[in-house]
Amino acid sequence: MARSFSLPWRRLWVGLLFLGGQALAAEAPRLVLQITVDQLRGDLVDRYRAGLGQDGFRYLLEQGAVFADAHHRHANTETVVGHTTLATGTDPAVHGMISNVWIDRKTGDKVYNVQDPDYPPIGSKQNDESQNNEIDPTQRAATTKGRSPRAILTTTIGDEIRLHYGPKAKVFSVSVKDRAAIAMGGHTGQAYWFSKGEGRFVTSTYYRKDYPEWVKAWNAGGAVGRYAGGEWKLLLAPRFYLFADRDDQPWEMKLPGWGRTFPHHYGPAHGKFYGALLTLSPAGDELTVDFAKALIENEGLGQDDIPDYLSISLSSTDYIEHVFGPSSLEAEDNLKRLDRTLADLLQYIDRTVGLKRTLVVLCADHGSTEAVGYLKTLGIDAGEFDFKKAAAQPWLAQLRKRFGLAKGELIQGFIKPYVYLNRQAIAKAGLKLGEVQQAVAHALQKMPGVAYAVTADALSRGAVPDNPVMRAVTANYNPQRSGDIYLVFQPHWYVADFDGMHVTSVHGSPWPYDTYVPLIFMGPGIEPQKIYRRVETVDVAPTIAEILGTRPPSGALGRPLEEVLAR
Ligand SMILES: [Zn+2]
Repeated sequence: MARSFSLPWRRLWVGLLFLGGQALAAEAPRLVLQITVDQLRGDLVDRYRAGLGQDGFRYLLEQGAVFADAHHRHANTETVVGHTTLATGTDPAVHGMISNVWIDRKTGDKVYNVQDPDYPPIGSKQNDESQNNEIDPTQRAATTKGRSPRAILTTTIGDEIRLHYGPKAKVFSVSVKDRAAIAMGGHTGQAYWFSKGEGRFVTSTYYRKDYPEWVKAWNAGGAVGRYAGGEWKLLLAPRFYLFADRDDQPWEMKLPGWGRTFPHHYGPAHGKFYGALLTLSPAGDELTVDFAKALIENEGLGQDDIPDYLSISLSSTDYIEHVFGPSSLEAEDNLKRLDRTLADLLQYIDRTVGLKRTLVVLCADHGSTEAVGYLKTLGIDAGEFDFKKAAAQPWLAQLRKRFGLAKGELIQGFIKPYVYLNRQAIAKAGLKLGEVQQAVAHALQKMPGVAYAVTADALSRGAVPDNPVMRAVTANYNPQRSGDIYLVFQPHWYVADFDGMHVTSVHGSPWPYDTYVPLIFMGPGIEPQKIYRRVETVDVAPTIAEILGTRPPSGALGRPLEEVLAR
């Protein structure tokens, strides 16, 4: 779209022309509030709509521009990948966050996406045991407690707001998950996340030297402790729930003390997993929003004409769906409670900033997969892929023999969705990497549940068919970080085991249930409407940039969504 003059001016002119001076032209946003609901598949709000209030999801759906067919276009639909895509408007191939975990080619070590030994968390006791209380299996892969956004290779929309307006533009990000907060906060924002082991919101020395007084006060204020001894019970009468009579489903995880049926007990505040259990329930989102409200007030967001940016990523939906599945009474009650939490947040924004001066963008980092057990009861093909079992088959020994490689010299590791080969040993043996990749891929392709095994060699040469799945795998391919073979599983097949922890359902595929997300823009000058054409999440950041008149992020490949801009 050609920009003849900056958007606020265009908006003013258009407003004057069409409204004939009857109403004031829409004013430019003072605050961008980017809400990301972790693992909120595109259909779930409508599916669980019974009992929703007027001021949460319903308000956004009625007042906003609602995209009914929004998808991520990368293949590995995981948390850091989706968040970074939303923040940067580009593919993981470009922003570099190709997976929650990858292997560092130089050291051979596993890398957790936002880990960074140079920036330890502020105020954490050395050697404290919070990692042991970590039930987020992905986060447990980190080899250091330091965190920073340095692995993100492009700017984010928050960075661009900061670059455009200078230090008066405030950029903040909050989530239970470190990776969600850090990805959305970009390089110039300040990110806060929840330490489950310590029961408080933390940040790292990348962002600050010490905590501001308001963070200390919030952490000392007892908000986390007030759930102690309490329970998560149903919000509404059973008639409001599709799953009222299906609370106890055999495929749900049965965590000790938490159980599979309502009510779920948080236990005492000193319980080893107390902080973790809060995040496995709507309490995690309630605390995140409570912390965000303190942030808005104390940092003075949205109080002047220079736009500020706040990302709030809500993690409870994700953890609950991993434990109970998206089709569970827990997932359903969580959505109704999330609706109340959103309403509370929107009302707070209206009082402090004014919704008329706030651009609200709601999306999700990925969709969600149904539990294998559930699908099988319906006769739908589904399964779990176990790489260890696949690697125990004769093909691996046969290939090693064929290539003259000792044990451990062929495969370095499997970190879903990538198989990493031992490139050093392969080079030392004088073998051609592309040929070895092709041989391993050929063997893996025959395994049950594998749809495609795609080699890095083929991706780097562009030698893959031009179809949506291969485009998604290509969008995920970063030569430095991606593995040697990308395993695309058949629909409803996935890896459910993380470092020995078995969960109920796992997203991460390029199939529509995992790529499908809600997308709503609500704010000054945006017409309430429903848009049915397919759009992609890479379009989100460029749209925000267009509305504010900033540059798109440095690697952006998406395009501004015209329905949000046209008026
Ligand atoms: Zn996620």
